[in-house]
Amino acid sequence: MKRKTGQDRSITKHWRPATQAVRGGTARSEWGETSEAMFLTSGYAYDCAGDAAARFAGDQQGMTYSRLQNPTVEMLEERIALMEGAEACRTMASGMAAMTAALLCQLEAGDHVVAGRAAFGSCRWLVDTLLPKFGIETVTVDARDPQAFIDAAKDNTKLFFFETPANPTMDVVDLTAVCGIAKERGILTLVDNAFATSALQRPMEFGADIVAYSATKMMDGQGRVLAGAVCGTEEFVNETLLPFTRNTGPTLSAFNAWVVLKGLETLDMRIRRQSENSVKIGSFLEGRVPRILHPGLPSHPQHDLAMAQMSACGSVFSFEVEGRGQAHGLLDALTLIDISNNIGDSRSLMTHPASTTHSGVAEDKRLEMGISEGMLRINVGLEDPQDLIDDLDAALSKVGL
Ligand SMILES: *Cc1c(COP(=O)(O)O)cnc(C)c1O
Repeated sequence: MKRKTGQDRSITKHWRPATQAVRGGTARSEWGETSEAMFLTSGYAYDCAGDAAARFAGDQQGMTYSRLQNPTVEMLEERIALMEGAEACRTMASGMAAMTAALLCQLEAGDHVVAGRAAFGSCRWLVDTLLPKFGIETVTVDARDPQAFIDAAKDNTKLFFFETPANPTMDVVDLTAVCGIAKERGILTLVDNAFATSALQRPMEFGADIVAYSATKMMDGQGRVLAGAVCGTEEFVNETLLPFTRNTGPTLSAFNAWVVLKGLETLDMRIRRQSENSVKIGSFLEGRVPRILHPGLPSHPQHDLAMAQMSACGSVFSFEVEGRGQAHGLLDALTLIDISNNIGDSRSLMTHPASTTHSGVAEDKRLEMGISEGMLRINVGLEDPQDLIDDLDAALSKVGL
């Protein structure tokens, strides 16, 4: 099948992100389909033995095996790269596969990593447990304070790794300051941008080198598939990341890539509406609960920084009630919002991080990260915000708040 891409980077890179999200990377087959085709194939056939040899030698363009390349997966990679303003992107089977590959492909024994201490539970496990096992020294810092990165950096520091806003405390990292500190010292920055996505925040514009994603979250946006992505320079992706992923195989399936392609078409619209709904729900909860951690509200200590880096606050925020008993009681009293630990879904979901997403993090580390026993995290969906407020109102009354 002859592939007609009809796309030229020198043109598509000038499209605005919302256009790229709908059309970027589309590579039409000879049938001229409007919606991207799903290529469910593990292998590819060659016209002659010489073609096979030329493709393996890298002298001929084309696919050889779906662990290495797949047309549907490549469409997604091109779309994500365009939206990010990155030279290149490689997708993975999950967000954690993306984080693991982004770290292991470039680190070796004797290197040092400085990581934000407020982070997704499994990202903390990579930093606290996996990397040290291979002789990579790690330290975690309060990433809200750029000075903490300066103080922690050493001669062998290779990488700063953090997320902003961070899960679930909604800590915000000053991208310009921290990426600047890294650049001055020849250190690379790896930013987990799952919460904001490129629709709200493009870390590379502030100096980040590598941006990694759980595409399971806002990018799919409808809670269907797991996916991940790593964006960087062509040199990083092709020379450093690709040898690692080609040989270790955390490949995204063509089916999941197709689902995420469809998700990206509505990302801009969904994330803006979910951000608006999130501000409405946050404003309702403010004053009704003892503490709220919401980057979209002026009460958040880093509200100005968050709004300078992001064009909207995103779908997730956290708040606190009195201890685990009241937190579980509130969850159990909900009738519309689901008790679920996923985020980015078009459905509103709520979870108690201390007993779910971060239950694998030791209690002292959890408290150091700012995750109290009374903390609840909510992903605000696309439902009518008044129905969500009514649900929360009734549940809060039931637990005496
Ligand atoms: C969910 C999440 C991950 C992990 O992604 P998976 O797709 O679940 O593997 C990593 N970082 C952040 C910030 C996340 O929210």
